[in-house]
Amino acid sequence: MTSVTQDRETAVVEAAPKRLYINGQWRDARSGETLEVLDPSTGQLLCRVADASEEDGWDALRAAEAAQKEFAAVPPRQRADMLMRAFELMHQRKDDLALLMTLEMGKPLADAYGEVNYAAEFFRHFAEETTRINGNYQTAPAGNARFIVRKEPVGPSLLITPWNFPLAMGTRKLGPAIAAGCTSVLKPAELTPLSMLALAQLMEDAGVPAGVVNIVVTSTAGTVMEPLIRSGIARKLSFTGSTAVGKKLLEQCAEKVLRTSMELGGNAGFVVFDDADLDQAVEGAMLAKMRNSGEACTAANRIFVHRSVIDSFAEKLAARMGELKLGRGVEDGVQVGPMVDAKQQAKVKELVDDAVGAGAQVVIGGNTGTGSGFFYQPTVLKEVPPSARMWREEIFGPVAPLTPFDTEDEVIDWVNDTEYGLVNYVFTHDLTRALRVAESVESGMVGLNQGAVSNPAAPFGGIKESGLGREGGDTGIDEFLETKLIGIAMS
Ligand code: ADP
Repeated sequence: MTSVTQDRETAVVEAAPKRLYINGQWRDARSGETLEVLDPSTGQLLCRVADASEEDGWDALRAAEAAQKEFAAVPPRQRADMLMRAFELMHQRKDDLALLMTLEMGKPLADAYGEVNYAAEFFRHFAEETTRINGNYQTAPAGNARFIVRKEPVGPSLLITPWNFPLAMGTRKLGPAIAAGCTSVLKPAELTPLSMLALAQLMEDAGVPAGVVNIVVTSTAGTVMEPLIRSGIARKLSFTGSTAVGKKLLEQCAEKVLRTSMELGGNAGFVVFDDADLDQAVEGAMLAKMRNSGEACTAANRIFVHRSVIDSFAEKLAARMGELKLGRGVEDGVQVGPMVDAKQQAKVKELVDDAVGAGAQVVIGGNTGTGSGFFYQPTVLKEVPPSARMWREEIFGPVAPLTPFDTEDEVIDWVNDTEYGLVNYVFTHDLTRALRVAESVESGMVGLNQGAVSNPAAPFGGIKESGLGREGGDTGIDEFLETKLIGIAMS
């Protein structure tokens, strides 16, 4: 891969849609307001995008409401074909989609290509699920009645996505919504709206009818979304973001008892036992820690290594982290991009400084990068104590905190010493121990001898304060389906 020219960067940003997509129309915000989209690797303005207010939100929800009945009646095969065409278009347009994502979000181009592929897979997966929606026909226990159980679309859905995976978090919700026959209003994160707007264009080109997918970009998410949620017109909210915002939204959903799917924060433990293959564990840690430059809710947030192997593990990990090239994601060979904004960069710095103050040692890194972008160096810390803030708070940056442990019971207690429960990783070659630990850790997902578990064909989601519901897999579509019982008298 060679570095991208400035002309190509400019051309891709110029060609990207920058207006709201409501009822099949591209339009400015009613107020005429726009918001700034920055390149986090330079801190410079990329472009301006329409900034929706409450009225635009209402327009979008009314469009989704109006389109719902007709869309629910579109034959499953036709809905599947729309998703398959969108899947194919994503591959055809991957160069532009990946570059746009790198420019607005900062992730290295290779990671952006990976995300385009991952995001497209949700469309293929849910295209395949569309024609498998089924029900049941059953004899009542007393024999005097029959039960027909059928699945129906939940109805218009509100979808809110974060900035760290600007495309994949959208396709993970739009795929099952369309498969199930639900219309939607999607609000992407204001830091990274361009990827989602480009996706909306692509879905229009794939033949998704007007009003079925509506995109509302806004700098005032709370003001725009709260009345829509409280109205009860939408019957479902699917949210990916922080636990704090997720809790607020759950309260708002309670008013009209909306169905909810919540993919919230994480605080993954990564456990390396003394019988693990250390090279495999280091590779796993690189993936679990450095995917998306650490800006992932699945990122290894606390790395527990058996005391007998921690020095060797730390040395190997530091060597790998030290080789990583930090820079603008569009430059050749760059493996770690900037943090998404100055706030995120400051948060990472604050957490590292706090850990060092609490007694952690810096093995490598430990500071912000140079230049005007929001960079932070790949960092390895040793002897991170439970009193460090990063033991409890998501780092969301390229920082690997190591803590030694002595016994299996101790490390399971530590892993579970958090209100989160999204994913944990376990490295050991003892099968019985692997299963025992996998069953004992409190999380919706466990990686055994691997540093990444997310796959569109598998159920993704957390327990405890990491969320409700599962996305992907064969259950992802159920989040957008209601179960209806039709009881029939037979005597
Ligand atoms: P992060 O801290 O990773 O940015 P957030 O939870 O703040 O996570 O953001 C995730 C998504 O939720 C973004 O699209 C953001 O705009 C949106 N969001 C933030 N606050 C609210 C709110 N009060 N109501 C609705 N959406 C919100």
